[in-house]
Amino acid sequence: MINKLFFAFLLLVFSSGSLASNETVSGIGKYDSNNVFAKILQGKPPAKIVFENEYVLAFEDIHPIKPVHVLIIPKGQYRSLVDFSSTASDQEIIAIVKSMGKIAKVMGLTKNGFSLMTNSGHNGGQTVSHLHFHLLGGEPVNCEKALREKNSINH
Ligand code: AMP
Repeated sequence: MINKLFFAFLLLVFSSGSLASNETVSGIGKYDSNNVFAKILQGKPPAKIVFENEYVLAFEDIHPIKPVHVLIIPKGQYRSLVDFSSTASDQEIIAIVKSMGKIAKVMGLTKNGFSLMTNSGHNGGQTVSHLHFHLLGGEPVNCEKALREKNSINH
């Protein structure tokens, strides 16, 4: 069992809940270069950037659901984790994983912990068709526990 006093809580789920009110999108298929994150990568609309390197951009979510709510995206054109995990280069994959830890540090989340999640496709509740990870913290998040309670499943 993970000791929450010493380790950040990493939750990587294909969540069953949407974080946005827009319609969901498919997690597979052709990349839509008109999606809002493709535009953010081009600087329009502007985003509050918290981290950037050659392969990764991280910026604040426009509708935060926690005191810290950052979106971490690859700069390459990937629709979802399905697409990214099968077609991205090793460099891109390594870069995004390494950046996650760095961004958690930059956002001051390493001591008290955080959740990291991605929504994929319709059932995941994905609304923007560019792969993104939600980094959530600043207060207890614990998505899995919330879902278990909602479904009255106790373990
Ligand atoms: P998802 O529902 O997992 O696809 O998450 C999409 C997220 O993108 C939501 O949490 C939105 O609030 C967020 N979002 C949408 N448009 C913008 C934007 N222009 N800048 C920052 N975040 C955005």
